[in-house]
Amino acid sequence: MVMQLSSLLSKFNEPETLKMAKLCRELRSKGADVIDLSLGEPDSDTPDHIKEAAIKAINENYSHYSPVAGYVELREAVCDKLKRDNNLEYECTNIVVSTGAKHSIANTVLAVVDAGDEVIIPTPYWVTYSEIVRLAGGQVKFVKTSLENEYKITPQQLKEAITDKTKLFMFSSPCNPTGAVYSKEELQALVEVFKEHPQVFIMSDEIYEYINYKGSQHSIAQFAEVKDRVIVINGLSKGFAMTGWRLGYLAASAEVAKACEKLQGQFTSGTNAVTQRAAITALTGSLEPTYAMVKEFERRKARVMELVKDIKGFECAEPDGAFYIFPDVSYYYGKTLNGECINNADDLCMYLIHKANVSTVSGTAFGEPNCIRISFANSMQNIEKGFERMKAALKE
Ligand code: PMP
Repeated sequence: MVMQLSSLLSKFNEPETLKMAKLCRELRSKGADVIDLSLGEPDSDTPDHIKEAAIKAINENYSHYSPVAGYVELREAVCDKLKRDNNLEYECTNIVVSTGAKHSIANTVLAVVDAGDEVIIPTPYWVTYSEIVRLAGGQVKFVKTSLENEYKITPQQLKEAITDKTKLFMFSSPCNPTGAVYSKEELQALVEVFKEHPQVFIMSDEIYEYINYKGSQHSIAQFAEVKDRVIVINGLSKGFAMTGWRLGYLAASAEVAKACEKLQGQFTSGTNAVTQRAAITALTGSLEPTYAMVKEFERRKARVMELVKDIKGFECAEPDGAFYIFPDVSYYYGKTLNGECINNADDLCMYLIHKANVSTVSGTAFGEPNCIRISFANSMQNIEKGFERMKAALKE
């Protein structure tokens, strides 16, 4: 008998961002001096007061199973945070804490999407959205946004995309990979469309909330007309430099939260108990380290915007949030060096990593084949060196 793996595996892809990280590690192990501008995480360390809370939790024997949806004290801290930062009223029964925001997204999709349901995702989008929908058997409907509109979906586009089969709309603000941040007025205009379609859930991924250079951050859940259908996704990974700790959370109607808790009860149970205790400190403690990190990102962003202007053919909007630039690089398509032709963003990323030893991520992974994502979650020195190398390689 031939062993056969499940057909589910062929329905979705491995994340392209993780593939690039793997390639970087491989090249480094062979001695290459790779500058990693594909990073999707802050390069700083977790603030000391949060680490100390975790050490205390270990010593206090937080070594047992926690409630599936998270400790009550943590869910209360999440509610207080949502009130403090986002002016959102939730209770513990609306909150489910999970093993990273990615897990919260997976719970959301599996809780609301049935086989055959349509899910609208504006492109460019974060790589995981489409793949989780496919895993759930849903139909992904991409809506292409453009540089001219700062890569944001317009109410008209949304209106045209919604059908009777639409079940979910998924977006991030600030957006990974474009850094676009929706204003209150832009969200209000989308809400006007959603009001006409009460069957559509809205997943609002706010994981980059604190990494915002615009100074104002709004959640679509702030609009009472749709709040019951909004699933707010957030977590500690980006704002507190805690990617490896694995803690995300969602806020939703009690019905959706209960459904997510049921799913999680079979997949993972409550997330790491020590991480949860540390998360209480992160959410209720000082945000000074976060603000300092964001200030540094802002400094690098300003430099990156100067450096990118110096690279011929990279067309770029200035990001309002997150730590990426997402230039259109299609100027290079069709250009040949030593018989090798760059046909698309994948080819350009491969050219940059092999020729310049700089890793970036192809926009194809985010649904925008004319762009590449360059992260500035790296030291100023590495950023400058990386851009210098890219410029030299692209000149050829
Ligand atoms: N949403 C977006 C937009 C992200 O960029 C990421 C991480 N790259 C996540 C969710 C997942 O975050 P976590 O590490 O908490 O799973």
